[in-house]
Amino acid sequence: MWINGEESDSIGGERMWTVSPAHDKQVASYPLADAADVDRAVRAAREAFDQGPWPSMMGRRRSRALEQVADLIQKNIDSLARLETLESGKPISQAVEEMKAAVDLWRYAATLARHVHGDSYNSLGENKLGFVLREPVGVVAMITPWNFPLLIVSQKLPFALAAGCTAVIKPSELTPGTTLRLAELTTEAGIPPGVVNVVNGYGSPVGSHLASHSEINFMSFTGSTAVGRSVAAAAGQNLKGVSLELGGKNPNIVFADADMDAAVDAAVFGVYFNMGECCNSGSRLLVESGVADEFTRRIVEKARTIPVGDPLDPATKVGAIINEEQLSRIKGYIRSGMQCEARLLLGGGVMPTEHGRFVEPTIFDRVTAEMPIAREEIFGPVLSVLTFDTRAEAIALANDTCYGLSAGVWTRDVETAFEISQRVRAGTIWINCFMDGYPELPFGGYHDSGLGRELGRFSLDEFTELKTIQLHLGSRGTPWV
Ligand code: NAD
Repeated sequence: MWINGEESDSIGGERMWTVSPAHDKQVASYPLADAADVDRAVRAAREAFDQGPWPSMMGRRRSRALEQVADLIQKNIDSLARLETLESGKPISQAVEEMKAAVDLWRYAATLARHVHGDSYNSLGENKLGFVLREPVGVVAMITPWNFPLLIVSQKLPFALAAGCTAVIKPSELTPGTTLRLAELTTEAGIPPGVVNVVNGYGSPVGSHLASHSEINFMSFTGSTAVGRSVAAAAGQNLKGVSLELGGKNPNIVFADADMDAAVDAAVFGVYFNMGECCNSGSRLLVESGVADEFTRRIVEKARTIPVGDPLDPATKVGAIINEEQLSRIKGYIRSGMQCEARLLLGGGVMPTEHGRFVEPTIFDRVTAEMPIAREEIFGPVLSVLTFDTRAEAIALANDTCYGLSAGVWTRDVETAFEISQRVRAGTIWINCFMDGYPELPFGGYHDSGLGRELGRFSLDEFTELKTIQLHLGSRGTPWV
């Protein structure tokens, strides 16, 4: 673990192990925290916040420190990517790109550290001035999932640090490696002890204790909708702020006038990227009826060629499923698709490998809106194809889910693109692209996909409190009594 600027064992001396999903071999062993270790990490973060210097440091100095972290991630891309691949099962070429994206997030957040500012009013009357300050919210707890370990913590931590907060992070018990290494790099970059702390362990007791901890001021959670609800409920007990980045069942909508080559490639990428273990997965493909047969035929043809296998092979595009639990969930949905009489066009099986768990890229068509494979997050390489005849029908289908994270639309018609963008209830709409992301653009979901937004300059709002200062100049004026 990483507490108060140094490596730390757990008080109880217990340990946990991570195992490579592709090779079934132990990757690393870590101290396993309990509630007392969480308290220790929170105390370190609390002291670093209450006594400084981090929260009151010049923006320029905080910015420089974040830049230095970015430089250090950059310098360590290869080892970080390898560790990420070994613990998560994701393809190494993709892991390298994620590390580069993390560098960019830290660099962008560094620019925000110099833009934490409020507002002022000189329209309140003679001799009056009003100042609205943005102060760092305090100690932030961050709980992250296993599917994009370093990328997701980099969507939170540098932004919180830019605002002047301190942090206690609980990475997923399946993939803590790169988060711990990142914490070490923040210390190497000169960020003071106690500003960044990492505790390893399971959702309960470590995550749940963080969520209900009275010394934490804000909770930033990424994970499943079910756990997000319990985290929000626990945080509600002491009225700390919460942001939630949760699940999705994202529609990718293809109209007949679309650039078909581009849409086919993006549809395949959209669902099989990261083995489909992706909140943004385009797992619901909605295709205009007139082109559905041809479009589906082309997707099947392309999906058949995807290199699935050892994630350490640079040619691999689809790696291993994280664990047995996730595999059986995916298999359950494939069975459900068959039972509902959707048509299985491709895959549906687990590849016969000596080690690890690899699911064949799978495609169902003749899927209808009420089927579980059309409504629920599968978190695996399984595509459900539905069809529509009109724009209105496409919009109704797209919105017919409890989620609202993201949606794609493929068309050459600006009116279609605009109407879909306005009427589909999702935090991000991609027009003629899919799953692009930039540190500048806010990310988050409607409905059961979450609460609040990460990234962009708006992310500072979540990590700051507003304080109003009213200044009266000159004499008091007419006495009250
Ligand atoms: P999960 O909810 O099981 O776990 C997420 C984190 O919460 C882990 O660190 C886990 O240990 C912790 N946790 C578990 N129980 C807890 C509790 N009671 N209190 C506090 N913390 C607890 O999710 P997962 O399986 O790791 O990740 C997959 C899910 O994450 C999917 O639903 C996916 O859509 C979602 N996700 C969302 C985004 C997004 O930005 N919207 C990004 C990635 C993943």
